[in-house]
Amino acid sequence: MQFIDLISQKNRIRTTLLQRIEAIVDHGQYIMGPEVAELESRLAAYTGSRYCVSCSSGTDALLMPLMAKGIGPGDAVITTPFTFIATAEVISLAGATPVFADIAPGTFNIDPDSIAAAVALARERGLNPKALIPVDLFGLPADYDRLEAVAADHGLWILEDAAQSFGATYRNRRAGSFGLAAATSFFPAKPLGCYGDGGAIFTDDEELDVLLRSVRVHGSGVDKYSNDRIGINGRLDSIQAAVLLEKLVIFDEELSSRQRVAEAYSSRLKGRLVVPEIPEGSVSAWAQYSLLASGEEERAAIMDRLRLEGIPSVIYYKIPLHLQKAFAFLGYREGDFPVSEEMSRRVFSLPMHPYLPEEEIGKICSVIASCF
Ligand SMILES: *Cc1c(COP(=O)(O)O)cnc(C)c1O
Repeated sequence: MQFIDLISQKNRIRTTLLQRIEAIVDHGQYIMGPEVAELESRLAAYTGSRYCVSCSSGTDALLMPLMAKGIGPGDAVITTPFTFIATAEVISLAGATPVFADIAPGTFNIDPDSIAAAVALARERGLNPKALIPVDLFGLPADYDRLEAVAADHGLWILEDAAQSFGATYRNRRAGSFGLAAATSFFPAKPLGCYGDGGAIFTDDEELDVLLRSVRVHGSGVDKYSNDRIGINGRLDSIQAAVLLEKLVIFDEELSSRQRVAEAYSSRLKGRLVVPEIPEGSVSAWAQYSLLASGEEERAAIMDRLRLEGIPSVIYYKIPLHLQKAFAFLGYREGDFPVSEEMSRRVFSLPMHPYLPEEEIGKICSVIASCF
């Protein structure tokens, strides 16, 4: 059994995709060719954003807005410790300091009530709090109405980490449309993935769009060899854009299938385990289907039993970022973010993809039931 099945999906798009790839091989514009421009306008329309700047990965999609906005030494950027390392890594790469704020227990997303304390801590350490990076973890958008209000109170701008939530909605708006800018990832295992690395940034801010396009190509000015600022090589390949264009055709149907899988899991597993809580007005993109066991021992027992039955399961995330060796220099200790720490001891994720058959869902749920 696959944790994420990319083969069934590939079989659906194979013929038309190969035609598009063949056209690219022949036209020769291998990087940022016409497919990239086509993709950017499709993605902007999909999220309801004015501008979309595609780029080389989700990590670069997070880094580039920080660079474009001049985030650097002496600045603090507030984010969650319960996420993939890239969310906080880019803050350090920009030269600024990550300051963590704990998550809310039900949703795994940053708790709007924990932002004020993080801002105060940043100031105490002599830093200037400038921005907030909420993460739409496992595909569920963070609570943007409340986050936007708190961010405004503290003069922070928001960069939405929508790496896992492309396709999700929050109060009738698509993930990728919140904050000053949003970043998503097209890593193959994400809800919308390409066949390599890729990412995109969304914004309604015209000035930021221009700066991002410059940062993407080594800070280019009027042309490639006049450089106005420090940038990166953040371009997207035409072949990756073609893969994404073909996958977009079937994407909404895949989102409904993910929703069907999540509902099937939840109806069978609730009562035994804590199933995902989707707040009223939100629809998850179901990048992961993540559950809570009562504790570390119960989780280990369930995951062992699943493994014996050939069913893969994964822990996202075993070590919260404030306890990672890479961030030891920040000086956090165990106990600083109790909700994130508890979740890291209890959480685990089951196979989730649009092609998961009913029989496999049934088998997974009965194996879990047999553990109780
Ligand atoms: C995957 C991911 C990223 C990074 O995306 P890449 O394309 O792998 O660079 C950033 N943040 C979160 C929350 C992610 O899940």
